[in-house]
Amino acid sequence: MPEVDFDVAIIGGGPAGSTTASYLAKAGLSCAVFEDAIFPRPHVGESLVPATTPVLSDIGALPLVEAAGFPRKYGAAWTSAAPSNIPTMGFNGLSHGFRAAEIEFNERDQPGVHQEYTYHVDRAKFDLLLLQHAQSLGANVFQGTRVRNVDFSGPTPRVTLRMGKSDVRLSARMVVDASGRSTLLGRKLDLKVPDPVFNQYAIHTWFEGLDRTALSADSEQADYIFIHFLPITDTWVWQIPITDTVTSVGVVTQKKNFASSKSDREEFFWECVGSRPELKAALRASERVSSFKTEGDYSYGMKEICGDGWLLVGDAARFVDPIFSSGVSVALNSARLASADIIAAARKDSFDKAQFTHYESTLRRGVKNWYEFISIYYRLNILFTAFVQDPRYRNDVLKLLQGDVYDDSEPKALEAMRQIIRQVEQDPSHLWHRHLGSLRSPSLAPMF
Ligand SMILES: Cc1cc2nc3c(=O)[nH]c(=O)nc-3n(C[C@H](O)[C@H](O)[C@H](O)COP(=O)(O)OP(=O)(O)OC[C@H]3O[C@@H](n4cnc5c(N)ncnc54)[C@H](O)[C@@H]3O)c2cc1C
Repeated sequence: MPEVDFDVAIIGGGPAGSTTASYLAKAGLSCAVFEDAIFPRPHVGESLVPATTPVLSDIGALPLVEAAGFPRKYGAAWTSAAPSNIPTMGFNGLSHGFRAAEIEFNERDQPGVHQEYTYHVDRAKFDLLLLQHAQSLGANVFQGTRVRNVDFSGPTPRVTLRMGKSDVRLSARMVVDASGRSTLLGRKLDLKVPDPVFNQYAIHTWFEGLDRTALSADSEQADYIFIHFLPITDTWVWQIPITDTVTSVGVVTQKKNFASSKSDREEFFWECVGSRPELKAALRASERVSSFKTEGDYSYGMKEICGDGWLLVGDAARFVDPIFSSGVSVALNSARLASADIIAAARKDSFDKAQFTHYESTLRRGVKNWYEFISIYYRLNILFTAFVQDPRYRNDVLKLLQGDVYDDSEPKALEAMRQIIRQVEQDPSHLWHRHLGSLRSPSLAPMF
């Protein structure tokens, strides 16, 4: 093997990149994280699921996250403006209403998770904490350093970096792309496949002093994540605690809804939340403390997520709609799975694609579970609240919502939901037919 500067070069220091670096540094591999931004920097994606806990624990960061005082997230709740008279009784035995549902994570034991809660995080602080932790474990971290290119034509990959005003070239035995939705290698290697269905769009900001129980009768749920369904097709709002008094609120809708609106961003946000007047009133009674930010064009898959001398982790590998807060958990778990294969590859001194097959198959299986769940939700979201409450399926749905998606089995609730959707789709006179959403995913498409 030729002389190299590092065993592994990691592009991007978000949760996927820093967690990969922590695992590799702990295993004694030399690695470097190249991060374009200077941390702390703001980032969307503030509510975690419990599947992050075993990873944070593995790399030794869990006590630091706990000490940072992020709001604890014990559960999740969904509210809806759906009329209470949607018929439920007598169809596949579902007998629960559609207006609201909630879960607590402690209802189901989850392997490797020994606490009843996960966290909501200010990503500026969380991402900095993880990056500093990787550095403390021995990873070399370069902030303000943009990776411009990776050249795979030689015996080992060569990375071109922008440092200050000059370009610097370094070599590594392999490259991990953790560049998030900028998908550096996905674009360079022409791997990226835009999702044929989910072209969602988000507009979000933070509010001070929001009454978090405005749409819930239960004050115990104040620090849950809330998903408020809006009576606008395929549109919902997140409500995520950031501190005791600051709350992140975002509207997610189809991009075409936004494009067809003549309003500017802020008006569009208020128009959407105005479809739930009690939500709008609560937001108007609080104070907006950050500017509106938007995120668009964000669902895609990759034809391949590993190859000779490279692999993709986190959003650089795959991005699905954030309705179930899956992103950071996928970032951390992809880092966990990828690192195990990389460490084994380093022992063999061979970084060809064949070394990463376990990573590829496990990550694809996990994300496919998320994708199916999300697709089902968008196709018939009234079904989701009914299933959450149904004792036959609650545990299964909880497993998904905990992010416990990487083992062999597909949760049986998914197939049960698909069957109901097929029946409703095929029967225009079905009482739920008019509640079908407009997004219909070609599930099981190969790249997904
Ligand atoms: C609207 C919306 C809402 C979301 N809500 C949630 C949520 O509630 N919960 C959740 O878990 N997830 C959520 N997500 C998803 C979450 O934001 C991501 O899944 C998560 O940030 C992925 O982490 P990552 O490390 O892969 O990428 P990122 O966090 O994006 O990190 C990538 C890093 O790479 C750096 N970078 C990029 N290009 C280069 C380059 N060429 N050279 C060097 N550095 C580079 C960037 O500066 C960045 O710091 C949401 C996403 C969206 C769009």
